[in-house]
Amino acid sequence: MLGECHAHIAMDGIDFAKAMARHVGHVDDAAIRTHLRAYRDRGITFVRDGGDACGASARARDLAPSYGIDYRSPIFAIHRNGHYGRIVGRGFDTMTEYAGLVAEAKRLGADFIKIMTTGIMDFNISGCITGEALSRGEVREMVRIAHGEGLAVMSHTNGERAVLDAVEAGVDSIEHGNYLEEEGTAALADARIALVPTAAVAHNLIGCGRFDDGVLEAIFEQSCSTIARSYEMGVILALGSDAGAVGVLHGQGLVDERACFERALPGVPGLDDRLAQGQRYVRATFRRA
Ligand SMILES: [Zn+2]
Repeated sequence: MLGECHAHIAMDGIDFAKAMARHVGHVDDAAIRTHLRAYRDRGITFVRDGGDACGASARARDLAPSYGIDYRSPIFAIHRNGHYGRIVGRGFDTMTEYAGLVAEAKRLGADFIKIMTTGIMDFNISGCITGEALSRGEVREMVRIAHGEGLAVMSHTNGERAVLDAVEAGVDSIEHGNYLEEEGTAALADARIALVPTAAVAHNLIGCGRFDDGVLEAIFEQSCSTIARSYEMGVILALGSDAGAVGVLHGQGLVDERACFERALPGVPGLDDRLAQGQRYVRATFRRA
């Protein structure tokens, strides 16, 4: 079984507020163990977390070996204050503060650094990404600092321009990558940077009644085109479902994400080999040197 390359064990895929409330004051081991069991029961032995603000992924990293799981964590994701990312990590105002957060994540045992360079897809407006992207110079500096500490960079990034900036900055993986176009895809392929499309998020929300299904379907369709184009152009593709996000359950999320890839690339015979290759890249790159 392939590994889950993008999860948030702090969340449960059902109710964000309730899941987070469980970890207030101290991390709730029972919740984490339930999710680790869900992975183990499906034969998933590798999980890369995308971070949280409450220490859950750090705790999961400690508990995971007893479930036979190789668990990689950035401890918390890092965002610029006032921009998207507070729900999965900690914020900075200045580059000195950013460097301090990188050093702290490292001290707490981070396997890599997770940065947030843009917002998320707006589930109510097709083609729209929430908030403003960080500047190219800023992203470059953030990557330079993390790499300087010997840590790889997992970058939450949506939109063509922002992906091009992140690629130029030298990130090691692009997460989500919604609204990616031809040039950005080619840049990812050339730079040998992994793309983790997390297509299951929009797909699994279709029909839930919380958002406009037409918008969700459009987001999902562009995700499928991105996957197909990336495959054709030779991008390193890895399977990650954003498990923990509403609608995406731990364990099951990986099955859902694999089904999204099948939708994007129906009957392509080499798909599992390509995804295994992507996973090897993630396992080899997102670890402490
Ligand atoms: Zn995520």
